[in-house]
Order: sequence, then structure tokens, then C-alpha cells
Amino acid sequence: MKRSIGFAAALLSGVLSASAAQAQSGVEKLYVLNCGEGVAGDISRWSPGVNEGKSMDFSDNCYLIKHAQGWFLWDTGIADAVAAMPDGLAPADPKAVTWHRPKTLASQLEQIGVKPSDIKGMAVSHTHPDHIGNVEMFPTTMLYVQKAEYDWPGANNQPRFKKEHPVTLLEGDRDVFGDGSVTILSTPGHTPGHQSLLVKLPKTGEIVLSGDAVHFKSNWDNRGVPGNNFNKDETLASMQKIADTLTKDKAQLWINHDKAQRDTLKMAPEFYD
Ligand SMILES: [Zn+2]
Repeated sequence: MKRSIGFAAALLSGVLSASAAQAQSGVEKLYVLNCGEGVAGDISRWSPGVNEGKSMDFSDNCYLIKHAQGWFLWDTGIADAVAAMPDGLAPADPKAVTWHRPKTLASQLEQIGVKPSDIKGMAVSHTHPDHIGNVEMFPTTMLYVQKAEYDWPGANNQPRFKKEHPVTLLEGDRDVFGDGSVTILSTPGHTPGHQSLLVKLPKTGEIVLSGDAVHFKSNWDNRGVPGNNFNKDETLASMQKIADTLTKDKAQLWINHDKAQRDTLKMAPEFYD
């Protein structure tokens, strides 16, 4: 008798937890945040020998995702401090991008009504400064990063992240919420542990946020690999992995730095659902 009550209780709790899990499944919204705007001095830097001397506008996006289990931030952009620099942040190499911050990340989160401490998880595509500028605005948020990126020595052998920042080190793809709605895709090459994000939205459908696996559309169409790049073969293989994902999941490709594409997107506080 005792055993059958126990069994019924186990069965009931199993049913309850299954329905609770169902209610907590899925992405609800995705916001595109302005995390920088810039001008590249010479775009042949991203496709050697092509368009030499040609300047181009660049965008820099962050993406805030509302999942039933909590908020998730993808990339953190140019440091908010750049918003106070009237001439922007000039690069050491004049061919690279001079960045401006027309809006801070903090002000855009505030407008949506999200506090940094509300954000449960975050990931950055890679550790170049236009993507990690505000990681420490979220000192308690779990950071998902590839081990290869985390262990990659920075300038003067400095670590890429603060040791005390909570971190989950990845070695490959990761289904962040366990329901297939937000998946980190390992796409190395631009840097040792570069990663991209596959997001499944209820109405908009599937989107790949490609970080800097590719920098703008003509480089995607022509498989252009930048000069400043860690491993060309890995970069090409990662572009193919993204192309296969677009086909398999009928996903859209959103290229972070492609200003022309960004101009077609709804920006926060508007959102995609
Ligand atoms: Zn970048």
C-alpha cells in the first residue's frame, strides 16, 4: 500500500514537473540593441585585395532575448564610456573602424525595463573589444564562452575575462535552456573560440546571429576572410556550418556589423517575437 502511494505521488510530481517545464519553454522576444556605429577606413582589411581604399559604415549590435526561464544577452558591444567621447574611439590602424556610441547599452536596457542583475545568462561571440566592452556591467550574470577563447592569452598575456566572473566554459555547441530555442554554435576561426547563436522565435522563426564569423554581406556571398583573423580554414569551415544551419533550420542570417542590414531591422524598444 505504502509503495503504491509513493508510486502515485512520484507519478503525479512527474506530471507536474513536465507541465511546469512545458510552461517555461521557449523564446518570447528578441530586442536588437544599438551597441555602436562606426566608419571603417578601408574595407579591404576584411577582404584582402577587394575594395581597397573603400570606406564603409559599420554597425555593432547587441541582442537581448526574453526566454520563459529568464533574460539572455548576446554580445555587449563597444564600451558605454565611448558615448562620452565626442570624436569617438579611433583605432590604432586607420584602416580599421572608428566607433561611436550614439546610445549606451545601459540606457537601452533601462528603456526596456531590464536591470543588469535581471539578466540570467550572457554570451559573447568573441573577445574583440567591440563585443566585450560591457561584460562587467553584468558581474553576476553567467557567461557562456568557449574554453578556447577563455584560455586564449590577451595582450601582455592578460586573461580575457575577470577570474571572478561566473563562467560556463564550452567545448562545442550548447543548448542554453535545454529546449532548443537558444543554441550557441561553435564557429571558430575569426578567433580561437568564436561562437554564433541560433535563436528560434515563435512568429519570426529562426535566426542565426553570426557574430564576426562574417563581417558584411559581400564577404558572406564571396566567403571573404579578414586579414586580422586567427585561422582561415576554420573560418571557412564555420561559414559552411552556418550556411548548413540556414538551410536545415530555414534560418535568417543576421550579420552584426552589416550596417545596410541593420537599417532594415526593428531596433529596441521594438522587438521581434
Ligand atoms: Zn566585431
